[in-house]
Amino acid sequence: MASLISRLRRLRHSDQTIAAHVRRTLVASLYASPQSLIIGALTSSAISGTVALVSGNRMMNMCAIAIAIVAGLRTTDALRSHRPELESGAPGSVPATRQELVYRAGAVCYSALLGVFGLLTLLYTADGVLQLLAVTTAVGYAAGITGRNAGRPWIALSQLCLTSLPIVFGLLAAVDPLKALLAVVILLFIVAMMDITLQTYDVILKATVASAEMAALAEHHAAVARRDDLTGVANRTAFREQFEKELQALHGRSHLLAIHWLDLDGFKEINDSFGHHAGNALLTGIARRLKDAFGSGGIVARLGGDEFAVVRRIRERSDAARIGSRILELVERPVHHDARELDVTGSLGVAIAPADGTEADTLLKNADLALYRAKDSGRRTICFYEPLMDEKVERSRDLAAEMQGALQRGEFDLVFQPIFDLDGKRVRSCEALLRWTNRRYGSVSPVEFIPIAEKSSLIVAIGSWVLHEACRVAKQWPAEIKVAVNLSPIQLRSANLLEVIASALATTGLAADRLEVEITESVLLEDVEASFAVLNEINRINVRTTLDDFGTGYSSLSYLTRLPFQTMKIDRSFVADLEQGPASVAIVQAIVDLAIKLGMQTIAEGVETEAQLAQLRRTHCDAVQGYLLATPMPASRVGTLLAGMPLRGELRP
Ligand code: C2E
Ligand code: MG
Ligand code: MG
Repeated sequence: MASLISRLRRLRHSDQTIAAHVRRTLVASLYASPQSLIIGALTSSAISGTVALVSGNRMMNMCAIAIAIVAGLRTTDALRSHRPELESGAPGSVPATRQELVYRAGAVCYSALLGVFGLLTLLYTADGVLQLLAVTTAVGYAAGITGRNAGRPWIALSQLCLTSLPIVFGLLAAVDPLKALLAVVILLFIVAMMDITLQTYDVILKATVASAEMAALAEHHAAVARRDDLTGVANRTAFREQFEKELQALHGRSHLLAIHWLDLDGFKEINDSFGHHAGNALLTGIARRLKDAFGSGGIVARLGGDEFAVVRRIRERSDAARIGSRILELVERPVHHDARELDVTGSLGVAIAPADGTEADTLLKNADLALYRAKDSGRRTICFYEPLMDEKVERSRDLAAEMQGALQRGEFDLVFQPIFDLDGKRVRSCEALLRWTNRRYGSVSPVEFIPIAEKSSLIVAIGSWVLHEACRVAKQWPAEIKVAVNLSPIQLRSANLLEVIASALATTGLAADRLEVEITESVLLEDVEASFAVLNEINRINVRTTLDDFGTGYSSLSYLTRLPFQTMKIDRSFVADLEQGPASVAIVQAIVDLAIKLGMQTIAEGVETEAQLAQLRRTHCDAVQGYLLATPMPASRVGTLLAGMPLRGELRP
């Protein structure tokens, strides 16, 4: 008995400290089986009604009516209360504490009424059957209810006492030894049922806590599995789910949904130069900024590597442009790592639902196409998806795939365009120009495929082949004819360029001073110091250097004086303008004069008309190249041209 009392005390404490979600589950167990409650209500009402009627006692009749009314109210409450809502604590659902209070009120009233009815039956009827009916109903109810409501032990225990104790009192009041014996039995029964209820409660509580912990753990695991490990933003899986949800919410609504696909420019360089830790710090910093700016009310996810996606609901297209600018601005803010400032820029592809698609796959594909296009147009670019992009980008991608193995399949070829002295009669050198005839796409222009080769870094292998092949062909020409080979910026930055040039010269036996390399002006400006060093190295092994397409890259004059070039090629846009008027002539003249002062030779590119040639002669540039004099031709025809020079037949009329 003492232990029972101490357990009841402990129960009072522990019941106040149970977690809200556990309490919710326990309260929900009160409503878990409305059937048992309804059966209890119906049977007890029916029996008390019958006993009252047969007895003809007014008080018993009133008590039976009260039992029926409370039974009706409790049944209605049980049917109305939804267990899942209670369990989830969903917004709008009745709070568990209130629900428990309602249940407790009904239970206490009902039990007390049943107990009182039993007491009245024992006091006011002498009919043994009626007494038996009332006592067994009350005691049976008490036994059942302690099991049913053990999840909320105070309710169960009070129901047990309220139903049984009046019966005990009634039995003792009869002053009958047999009835007194029964009263003692019922008292022992109450103690035993209390013990069972407390034990059952312990088991239920432990099971509920364990299952709540398991559910929380599962939830935690699910959240971790959907989060990008490095940056903490949503990963691809979570992005996909959230994005599809947003798309579903779009149906019939007036807003639009914009997906911004971000790719960092130059992330690889940061990784290569400063290490993975720096790269990680940069990604984490950028992800945090994006999340702070767009996380609430939108989706921010890392789709892999240095790619992120930001999804936002917008009113009109211009909102997407504004968001895009903000993203780029956030990306450009330096990230501090190890006393260093890490800087990158970003490129963005944007697709907007529903105009650019309503399915997740379509929109992702279109945003990716737009991003591809943005990357192609240089750094810091935002590109919106346009239906025409599909075709162009698909072709670029196909060409990139076809380019793998193209060298091995022998699809590349060189043509040579002679460069003439100013009189247009004597060839002084030939520029090697790369041609690609693909098995699927046929002839592809270098203007299209060189950038693709540069993106995949295949240009290094292809460029090496060009150097070897150009030197091999030039070796067969008269000794005074040089060969010019175009170099890509990627080759210029590759570690083994010098070895490749030296190997091309060594294996073909071409004298180094017969090789010229052409480098486009705009390329040099990206990293002047590095370019300066490489060019000096090239000159040191006696290979000449030419500044190609001069006038397209806005070289500062100070760079020009420092960069070691022996020749400058005046871009064909200036030559094309020559016939436009005296101003254009003056520009070309100024370029030639500048080159003379810097000790460089000049070649005018893209000479197409006699008038241009005549004008160039007046400017005293050193050499000319263009369709007027000769188009690019295969090696075999160059041989013929050089053998019988001057050969008007080979020259363009
Ligand atoms: P580039 O180095 O400026 O080469 C001159 C380009 O102008 C050639 O185009 C040539 O065919 C064209 N051209 C020559 N005369 C005239 C003319 O009178 N009028 C006009 N409109 N064009 C003329 P192509 O062969 O299509 O090459 C284009 C560009 O592709 C080259 O410009 C060069 O930057 C690049 N390229 C070509 N071959 C190679 C290569 O082996 N390696 C690298 N890295 N780039 C190459
Ligand atoms: Mg060139
Ligand atoms: Mg050029």
